[in-house]
Amino acid sequence: MPAINRKKLMESVKRVVVKVGSGVLTRRNGLNLNVIDDLTTEICFLRKKGIEVIMVSSGAIAAGLRKIGMSKKPESLSGMQALAAMGQSNLITVYEEAFARHGAKAAQILLTRDDLTNRRRYLNSRNTILTLLSWKIIPVINENDTVVVDEIKFGDNDNLGGMVTNLTDSRLLVNLTNIDGLFDMDPRTNQDAELIKIVTEIDEKIIGAADKIPGFLGKGGMASKITAARKMTLRGIPTIIANGLKPGILKDIFSGKEVGTFFPPNQKALGSKKHWIAFTKSPKGKLVIDKGAEKALLENGKSLLPSGIKAVRGRFDRGNSVVLLNESDRELAVGLVNYNSDELNRIQGVRTSRIEFLLGYKHNDEVIHRDNLVLSLAQVF
Ligand code: GLU
Repeated sequence: MPAINRKKLMESVKRVVVKVGSGVLTRRNGLNLNVIDDLTTEICFLRKKGIEVIMVSSGAIAAGLRKIGMSKKPESLSGMQALAAMGQSNLITVYEEAFARHGAKAAQILLTRDDLTNRRRYLNSRNTILTLLSWKIIPVINENDTVVVDEIKFGDNDNLGGMVTNLTDSRLLVNLTNIDGLFDMDPRTNQDAELIKIVTEIDEKIIGAADKIPGFLGKGGMASKITAARKMTLRGIPTIIANGLKPGILKDIFSGKEVGTFFPPNQKALGSKKHWIAFTKSPKGKLVIDKGAEKALLENGKSLLPSGIKAVRGRFDRGNSVVLLNESDRELAVGLVNYNSDELNRIQGVRTSRIEFLLGYKHNDEVIHRDNLVLSLAQVF
């Protein structure tokens, strides 16, 4: 792979998602106003240079915690949600005031995973954010913590940051945390820890290093930052994990300085729709396919036909995403189905010419069209 010129790459970025973690935004007695002031100053500087910035900001739960004076997070979901409700209003007020000092305006957007898995709502959220950007307003996005339950959760804001990058066609994800980037060990407890400056492949070693660096205030720690970076690089988008407590960090990043940990884009990236299928939609069922279909899909770039299906698992609708398994239960791919689970139970294993006879109608010849199928990302489903 040819070496990437980081400075040149940064010069080409005209839209960026800046995700800021709770550890950056809060201090002992509440929100860290100095840091927020620095960050908003830098964001306004980038905007003046013609770079559109979308913020994904954590800190609601941490701000709520500090507002009420609790020493640690409550165990209950409702407790966390109550804290988020208190902290989110605090957070957005502080951003509004900080941006106003530069004559800029912010807008709050709260999302759940559901909003982005439904293609219509995905496109709606996208239009809203793009409209705000065209009005020169800075969108400040967080997960809608007060209403989310497990099934509709992004889980952590690193994942949300990645999805928003994809949603808005941003060309870079900057993930600001309270350490300089990914280290080989936890730098807060090991003096010898070394910063990993560039990650061209997210292998076991990198995942192992990340696992050793948990988060304290936020949900994710380094592990979820690496997962988000991996999804981004597969989309052809670079990620930089850097220290949001360092004044001037965004300016440094955009001037091409080698700060933080840089994840260059993967050259065999997925297109936007396939990335959405692979990473945003949650699979609702599984299809076991036979050896012939496995070969046709993996080696010959074909679509999935009913004849290759051996078993249908779970209940799902037309348009849902399903995971494809081979006969040894290995996950091969994920794709959008043209038939629901009841229909597939009736047409599995039959030739295409029999679909209409068995169902009384035919939506398509293919159960999953090639264009709606993402292969060989099995380990991330
Ligand atoms: N949405 C959460 C908050 O604002 C943060 C989630 C995370 O730390 O990743 O408090």
